[in-house]
Amino acid sequence: MKVLRTAHEVRTWRASVGRVGLVPTMGALHAGHISLVERAVRETDTAIASIFVNPTQFGPSEDFAAYPRREAEDIALLEKSGCAAAFVPPLAEIYPPGDATRVTPGPIAAPLEGAARPGHFVGVATVVAKLLAIVRPDTAYFGQKDFQQLRVLQTVARDLRLGAEVIGCPTVREPDGLALSSRNAYLTPEQRRHAVALSRGLFGARELWQQGVRQPDRLRDAVRRHTDGPDIALEYVSAADPLTLAELAAPAETAVISLAARVGRARLIDNVLLGMDVADLR
Ligand code: AMP
Repeated sequence: MKVLRTAHEVRTWRASVGRVGLVPTMGALHAGHISLVERAVRETDTAIASIFVNPTQFGPSEDFAAYPRREAEDIALLEKSGCAAAFVPPLAEIYPPGDATRVTPGPIAAPLEGAARPGHFVGVATVVAKLLAIVRPDTAYFGQKDFQQLRVLQTVARDLRLGAEVIGCPTVREPDGLALSSRNAYLTPEQRRHAVALSRGLFGARELWQQGVRQPDRLRDAVRRHTDGPDIALEYVSAADPLTLAELAAPAETAVISLAARVGRARLIDNVLLGMDVADLR
């Protein structure tokens, strides 16, 4: 596996390979990330993963400094999963001195994570636009776990004609249901046990949906009821349109139920998609 550090090295490498699938990450890799890499390996001749903890998507009081960094382990994991290359740029390669250009996504970035984390999606859209411009992949893979991010990036890639297909991949979970996340590392063993309430809440809403319930308020209430528990401070519970992320006011045939919560010092998000599959979103 090639470890590339500069845009120039990536472009040189890119010229010698065929179809390329890109998996952007912030490192501290887990089985969720690896599932995206394995999908990229399966679907393209050549998978490349990027590891870059992107400062512009963190708010001033967020965990940029504390975010786990494990480059050597990450590179070993990528190599084992069949990745052809890793792009691990230093800060100045992505944000050169004087850098001032930002990509501002439209209304799809306004609610939920956009409202809770001002500027977050400008940072995400900017870094992913840069990565797509550097790598020029045919396909780019993102997890359903960050559902709004997936939809924002599908919209940005389409609107800016970036030329990569942005593909959503299912959320990988622990056996008890907790979605894998690099931020789970912040949890104490006790908080980790209690964190299962998040997926339990979402699965509670999914069960109602499977029984035919479509009223968005009943779905939101089911999440709140099942999520109640020690160490869990819910920030929001949403039942929204999966295409626009607009909050549902009336029964619909598809929905994304999502939540954000503080568990100890971790801020965790999760969601379930109802009435459709993440693969149907392009
Ligand atoms: P991150 O390193 O947290 O920025 O995540 C990099 C990519 O991995 C994003 O597209 C995430 O949505 C995806 N991802 C993170 N956790 C999971 C998971 N549990 N299952 C599937 N994809 C995930």
